[in-house]
Amino acid sequence: MLHDQKRILITGGAGFLGSHLCDRLIAEGHDVLCMDNFFTGTKRNISHLLEKPNFELIRHDLVQPIFLEADEIYNLACPASPIHYQYNPVKTAKTSVMGAINMLGLAKRVKAKILQASTSEIYGNPTVHPQKEDYWGNVNTIGLRSCYDEGKRCAETLFFDYYRQNNVNIRVVRIFNTYGPKMHPNDGRVISNFIVQALTNQDITVYGQGTQTRSFCYVDDLIKGLIRMMNGPDDFIGPVNLGNPDEFSILELAEMIVSLIGSRSKIIFKPLPKDDPLQRQPDITLARERLDWEPKLNLKEGLKRTIEYFRSVV
Ligand code: NAD
Ligand code: UDP
Repeated sequence: MLHDQKRILITGGAGFLGSHLCDRLIAEGHDVLCMDNFFTGTKRNISHLLEKPNFELIRHDLVQPIFLEADEIYNLACPASPIHYQYNPVKTAKTSVMGAINMLGLAKRVKAKILQASTSEIYGNPTVHPQKEDYWGNVNTIGLRSCYDEGKRCAETLFFDYYRQNNVNIRVVRIFNTYGPKMHPNDGRVISNFIVQALTNQDITVYGQGTQTRSFCYVDDLIKGLIRMMNGPDDFIGPVNLGNPDEFSILELAEMIVSLIGSRSKIIFKPLPKDDPLQRQPDITLARERLDWEPKLNLKEGLKRTIEYFRSVV
């Protein structure tokens, strides 16, 4: 056993980001407890870890309390793709809010450090561009995306109240659009949709005119940021933006994917979903200064690796 080996609980550990985090923390020699209800995650993402002596899988729904021991908790459980978080919106809000309460209670009881995977969605349809952490956001409280946005906003509130009221050692990161291998082919988010469509020569479904923008971060960069934040100084609890500031329109993204794959797919336009943010770009000055973190991989290189992965699964 490593003398600095920690017991680390990852909620949502069988999902896209969670499974990459499991890989990294297992490789570092930690004892990893992966908890998931397999709503959007799959056993396939972590099946290669099941034989490892320092890996444990727990099927559990975060809405229910659970009693475990841990030194650190990464709270990632929550569907992240609009089609999945809108499938059962009440459950999505419960997962964010009751999940945060259950995990913060656990952290308080066992004195664990706890990191919340918050999101750029807490900025809503932002009127400030790029988004800095001191921007309070522009969020519809009663729309189709509200179950996710407001659930995540309430979770941030709970984290800061447990910090002030109960001295829980918290970290809050706001993750911007992240992509890479192990995204579910039917995940519904834009990069997986476009790659799967382009590989199978189906039409590429651009919503609206494709002028809305996003800034895409490759998963390995993001995971390094999460771990760096967890292990950063105790006086830096966040919230901190983690993402890649290179901004692209959705149409540019579609064209780039078609060209990288050499696909015969044609780009078609579908209605823009309601409350779809028009622009999004992280200001990562704070992460650069306090965590010495910035993403290394540009979109083209990240897409090439992601396309290779999807070639092997579709
Ligand atoms: P994902 O859907 O692949 O993973 C979420 C995981 O949580 C899945 O394994 C799912 O089965 C599990 N889960 C959902 N509800 C649960 C419940 N009630 N109990 C236990 N497990 C539950 O999504 P992801 O992209 O890996 O996102 C992980 C986290 O990061 C989420 O909290 C998401 O909000 C946040 N985030 C992700 C992005 C991104 O671009 N990937 C951006 C912002 C924030
Ligand atoms: N989008 C699209 N076609 C798709 C899926 C998504 O044009 O098949 C658009 C979507 O409308 C949004 C952007 O791509 O403007 C990013 O969508 P995603 O669901 O990946 O993430 P989010 O909207 O939560 O940033």
